[in-house]
Amino acid sequence: MKTVQHWIDGAATSGASTRTAPVWDPATGQQQAAVLLAERADVDAAVAAAARAFESWGDSSLTKRTRVLFSLRELLARHEDEMARIIAAEHGKVIDDARGEIVRGREVVEYACGIISALKGGYSDQISTGIDSFDFRQPLGVVAGITPFNFPIMVPLWMHPIAIACGNTFVLKPSERDPSVSNFVARLYADAGLPDGVFNVVHGDKTAVDGILDHPGIEAVSFVGSTPIARYVHERGTAAGKRVQALGGAKNHAVVLPDADLEFAADHLTAAAFGSAGQRCMAISAAVAVGEAADALVRVLADKAEAIRVGPGQDTANDMGPVITAQARERVASYVGSGEAQGAAVVVDGRDLKVAGHEEGFFVGPSLLDRVTPDMDVYKDEVFGPLLVVVRAADLDEAIEIVNGNPYGNGTAVFTSDGESARRFQRRVTVGMIGVNVPIPVPMSHYSFGGWKDSLFGGHHIHGPEGVSFYTRAKVVTSRWPHVDRSVEAAFNFPSH
Ligand code: NAD
Repeated sequence: MKTVQHWIDGAATSGASTRTAPVWDPATGQQQAAVLLAERADVDAAVAAAARAFESWGDSSLTKRTRVLFSLRELLARHEDEMARIIAAEHGKVIDDARGEIVRGREVVEYACGIISALKGGYSDQISTGIDSFDFRQPLGVVAGITPFNFPIMVPLWMHPIAIACGNTFVLKPSERDPSVSNFVARLYADAGLPDGVFNVVHGDKTAVDGILDHPGIEAVSFVGSTPIARYVHERGTAAGKRVQALGGAKNHAVVLPDADLEFAADHLTAAAFGSAGQRCMAISAAVAVGEAADALVRVLADKAEAIRVGPGQDTANDMGPVITAQARERVASYVGSGEAQGAAVVVDGRDLKVAGHEEGFFVGPSLLDRVTPDMDVYKDEVFGPLLVVVRAADLDEAIEIVNGNPYGNGTAVFTSDGESARRFQRRVTVGMIGVNVPIPVPMSHYSFGGWKDSLFGGHHIHGPEGVSFYTRAKVVTSRWPHVDRSVEAAFNFPSH
């Protein structure tokens, strides 16, 4: 059976690791590989390699850095098919969905190819008599990324291309559940001409994460994952003096107003709720049906949920694959049960789904619960599976109150044909990313991605301009090149020019 190794200083290595974790094939329920779990010594080795590499990479020209990123961009495009297959095999998502995350991640590399513009500072000639001012940004040093299972290539790509373009060196700790594509990307970086040690991959669990958070040689940590771990990473990382951005979980609402095109809204809601088996941080997991939209919306959603083709992600005929583990499958089923017990109406029940020939796979079908209220556990908790709840609201104001009453604030959407309602919604919701007739409003790479409230700890959103700001420190230079006139005396009063 294949063992997934670390990638440190330009080579695959087992380092000091002896512990492993299983990598499942979610479509069959069988173990397909083992991944090494790093000890602190492995984190130390990666940080030492990254620190050595920083000495020259941090001082390299912007054109040298962007040439590597242009090559990486081409290699990511050329190997899209292979990478999509690796992702589908370990994560379980359908191949086209895996391609989608590769493309969205590649767009961040495209943004990073323009780092020369993104890093441009300002210059003020003659800001005071004979004095000019300008600012510029410099890399931090060694930085780290800790990432979740649900986007094994895209989420790391939110981080390392920007960090590396800015002149930092990087240690990635991917999810141990679908680790292989990170090693593939490490090889692509090497083929693109990135010097050894600039990009390192350390696989592992809490031991590796704590090793990163406590390591004095790491300047900044980017984290994406569930809210309890995001909070923990932020607290422990900042206590150790690091800059930390920690993106957490979500409960994303789509508000459907009676003036919306219901067929259009239901189509997009279905894809946003059940695509990738609901395992997207921007998945719609709560539909808020307003006024008379509710009954019709639930009917159309039920028809569409029942029509979803569920099966192995490698088969392109399928819309939806399995969830990541047997525990995740049980968790989804238990939330359907708890919703029912607390008074929701189970309109579509995915609990008993069996996929012929894949009876041991981690499959659970789409479920739709109506008449869910904000006090129910199925509403309050992030389920992270193919389960959509419908909450009913009398009007837009009540819908906004529901959205804002939820502790998460990652993404939300409104479906309407009325501009005034859309504008009121986008201005009043306490959520970081908003879609207007767009169900999954993941910002394109020239903007930054991030939520509010329990969906983000730390002051920076990720990638785009805020990513550049996160991975750099600013300097402001105030300079004078005087014509030395010895008749001017130095003054002791505070300079006011
Ligand atoms: P997770 O929090 O379990 O794991 C994320 C990372 O933390 C992994 O690398 C994992 O190894 C590590 N980790 C897990 N338990 C740990 C512990 N006790 N101590 C230290 N490190 C630990 O998340 P997941 O299940 O891999 O991913 C799904 C979650 O990620 C969902 O909550 C989803 O909403 C969230 N997510 C959020 C965003 C976002 O942009 N806000 C994006 C993708 C995923």
